[in-house]
Amino acid sequence: FAGTALAVLGHPIKHSISPPMHNAALAQMAQSDARFASWKYFRFDIAPDDLPVALEKFSHHNFKGLNLTVPHKVLAFDLVNTSGTDAHEIGAVNTLTLESNSWFGENTDGYGLEAGILENFRTTIADRDIILLGAGGAARGAAVMCVHRHCRSLWIANRTAKNRDALQEHLLGASWHLKVPVFGFDPSAPPKELPLGALVINATSAGLKPNDPLPIDLSTLPRPRAVYDMIYNPPETPLLAQARALGIPAANGLSMLVHQGARALEIWSEAAVPVDAMRSAVHSAMKS
Ligand code: NDP
Repeated sequence: FAGTALAVLGHPIKHSISPPMHNAALAQMAQSDARFASWKYFRFDIAPDDLPVALEKFSHHNFKGLNLTVPHKVLAFDLVNTSGTDAHEIGAVNTLTLESNSWFGENTDGYGLEAGILENFRTTIADRDIILLGAGGAARGAAVMCVHRHCRSLWIANRTAKNRDALQEHLLGASWHLKVPVFGFDPSAPPKELPLGALVINATSAGLKPNDPLPIDLSTLPRPRAVYDMIYNPPETPLLAQARALGIPAANGLSMLVHQGARALEIWSEAAVPVDAMRSAVHSAMKS
């Protein structure tokens, strides 16, 4: 390929809808700026052990930027230079940019989540109580974003106490911690102090498979303002189905995918990115 290449690396990767999403944006950008006619976004299946060599190889070809998905986001953090406070505080990168033959890593997931929530519920994170489900990599990114955006309080619910304690300690011990109160609880026994009107964010993987349990029973919580599920495939998890049945506004993670991708493309292209074209492309890809 002779043009400017972009790609997503993951393992597995064959179900990724990032290529049609980015290529739809690039096609539209090429109409007003001929530079982008030679840009193309690919996907590569790279096993975790092969990531260091792959990053080295991509840097010697005409790659301008890379996205990283499962399982590379934390692994890559130690392999690249980092810029942007989110990447440091999360300890994970999802967007790499080649500068002077070296990869610089950033994390656009928090940006994507915040923009997805704003788009769906017309609410910002600031001054809102957040109930965060999960304590893995995605939850860490969501937690850092919520604290940065000055949420009013953060309640972390995760089935494994050790993991939720580790996330709570990471947040409370951080030098950048902004005095947001952070609590942890067992999702099967929600504490009675939970606030009314909280925003529930599902960052667990419960709901990816058909017979997965609910990460939390929404009927055991004071009525939330809205439920955002970071999962987008399937489009309606049991948690979202329960939210709809209870009349609680609910949305899946497709908007997060679109906005984290749009931010990455903005970083690489230093141009305005057509978010609507990316949104239409992912909706079509989900239907096919
Ligand atoms: P991790 O493997 O790091 O963490 C998984 C989390 O899910 C842990 O908190 C784990 O709890 C919890 N969990 C797993 N199975 C169950 C279950 N059966 N019941 C209750 N809790 C469970 O995964 P990630 O953090 O990387 O990803 C989590 C989700 O976020 C994925 O579904 C992914 O698709 C989604 N995501 C979406 C993005 C988007 O753009 N929309 C971007 C990034 C992620 P425990 O500690 O108890 O094991």
